Amino acid sequence: MTDLFTDDYAASADAADPLQRFRAQFHMPRFGDVEQAYFVGNSLGLQPRGARAQVEDVLDKWAMEAVEGHFRGNSQWMTYHSLLSTQLAEVVGALPDEVIAMNSLTANLHFLMVGFYRPSAERPAILMEAGAFPSDRYALESQVRFHGFDPATDLIEVQPGADGLFGMDAIAAAIDQHGHRLALVLWPGVQYRTGEAFDLAEITRLGHAAGAVVGFDLAHAVGNLPLQLHDSNADFAVWCHYKYLNSGPGAVAGAFVHARHATTDRPRFAGWWGHDQATRFQMGPDFQPTPGADGWQLSNPPILGLAPLRASLDLFTEAGMPALRAKSEILTGYLETLIRSQLDDVLDIVTPADRARRGAQLSLRVRGGREQGRALFEDLAANGVLGDWREPDVIRISPAPLYNSHADVLRFVRAVARWRDA
Ligand SMILES: *Cc1c(COP(=O)(O)O)cnc(C)c1O
Repeated sequence: MTDLFTDDYAASADAADPLQRFRAQFHMPRFGDVEQAYFVGNSLGLQPRGARAQVEDVLDKWAMEAVEGHFRGNSQWMTYHSLLSTQLAEVVGALPDEVIAMNSLTANLHFLMVGFYRPSAERPAILMEAGAFPSDRYALESQVRFHGFDPATDLIEVQPGADGLFGMDAIAAAIDQHGHRLALVLWPGVQYRTGEAFDLAEITRLGHAAGAVVGFDLAHAVGNLPLQLHDSNADFAVWCHYKYLNSGPGAVAGAFVHARHATTDRPRFAGWWGHDQATRFQMGPDFQPTPGADGWQLSNPPILGLAPLRASLDLFTEAGMPALRAKSEILTGYLETLIRSQLDDVLDIVTPADRARRGAQLSLRVRGGREQGRALFEDLAANGVLGDWREPDVIRISPAPLYNSHADVLRFVRAVARWRDA
């Protein structure tokens, strides 16, 4: 068998990578004279080299055309968000009218819950995962309270198994047990701490069968896994664009509203940018929503904030999610193989071994507990290998298929081995 733990192997695998050219499209953070081995694209994706030009285009247009920039040229600001929708829809497996780039992630969760979380005395509850990203839990808990219900009974948190993972069985059992009381199932596409990926279509099927609305937080799934949001039949979804979508700190976020809700009369918090585009500037007093996801917008969007997303989406369009996923499976598989063969005495892999149940990220528990974990994490950073730390004892390593390489993975494994052997 080929020795995978060699520079030769990593170099030949990188040479055979059909997406190799995309790395040069990004600014790789520096570590002294060399590039950092950056594994934190699940937290803040790297800057596409094209982002600056997109931002400068907006600045130039503003400088030269001022208010008329709204109405002039292909990238006019009036329709700027719809430039993005076609490409974004491709990334998440939706129809262009089903997606919109707007607001921020937690804001979108709240705004969509205005329409899609309609609790009643018989069905007041939300089902979510225990150990969720705090912002999601805060949002859901505050929504339950806002409607006059009690999170102690009406925010139902499914507990993971002893291995920290859920699996479909636990989710199915929870929906079965609580189904008659559920107004909403809100589930992640990929769990941020463990990297466990979920079958959105199956969760939707189970939630709907129980009579609940089903929504997803796809913060860690978008740009990571090929999604089929339309076919999943989910009612709605929200995500951010600064993780795998590489659109910059605090980038404008995304939302999906299934086509069957395009002209819903569910309540919503309205704003003028959600008003029918044909009559928006008649400035009439009555709100008539644009059909589809566009109708959930409130304000005219921050064009400067959207500009980097254009640069990023161009790269996703060019690479294509199937090719990205194919590389991602190989790259994360390489990381897994080397950890199992070289670092078995240092790291336990929390993320499922089944490739269908994970994306790019592996969550690694350091043997010896929190102090050892912190020591390793800091030693890695001091040697130009950047992962991230999740209390109490997890290091997350996420090889992003657009820009990470086998050579990066090798550097990580060598750095851990050096720390162990020191
Ligand atoms: C990254 C992330 C967030 C961050 O929320 P913002 O509103 O973008 O600050 C929220 N939820 C999940 C699951 C995340 O992964």
